[in-house]
Amino acid sequence: MKIICIGQNYTDHIKELDSKQQEDPVIFLKPDTSILLKNQPFFIPDFSDEIHHEIELIVKINKVGKYIEEKFAHKYFDQISVGIDFTARDIQKKLKENGMPWEVSKAFDGSAVVGKWISKSDFDLNKIDFSLTVNDQIKQVGNSCNMIHSIEKIISYVSQFFTLKIGDIIFTGTPAGVAKVCENDKLKGFIQKQQLLDIKIK
Ligand code: MG
Repeated sequence: MKIICIGQNYTDHIKELDSKQQEDPVIFLKPDTSILLKNQPFFIPDFSDEIHHEIELIVKINKVGKYIEEKFAHKYFDQISVGIDFTARDIQKKLKENGMPWEVSKAFDGSAVVGKWISKSDFDLNKIDFSLTVNDQIKQVGNSCNMIHSIEKIISYVSQFFTLKIGDIIFTGTPAGVAKVCENDKLKGFIQKQQLLDIKIK
């Protein structure tokens, strides 16, 4: 399986990072080795002094697809959750300055946290509230209505380049509020009031 991530999908986050909005979705990949194993803590890696949390709505692909039309994209997933796209911001900054690919800062082991999957059927996909707390304080709040590119658009766009396969996961981008994590922090991720993710930083 592969993890496809969308960058710069919320205006408020683009502003906080001083990035420039692109016309097309910004895409990068994480390998399957980036998934943080269930019930494991996240260990801050030695190579970074600035690991940021990015809470994101995620969807799991349930059908093989290529060149998926936007109007049919909803047929390609039935489960959603929240995930964390951990980012070595210090490294990413250097890579960006040099016009280099981001992978080292984004796709390292443990950088993809995947929450408990729930059925999308209980939600209006264009109006899903999600949030992240750090030590029980709210740090990031998002709503899918503020996405620049909708989930359907993302699936359609991405499938022009990559065949989507069963079990692939799409991270749909983070809202504002990204910040550094510290040892002993406890992070919890929610869709509306439902807690779907709970990890400790070590
Ligand atoms: Mg992200």
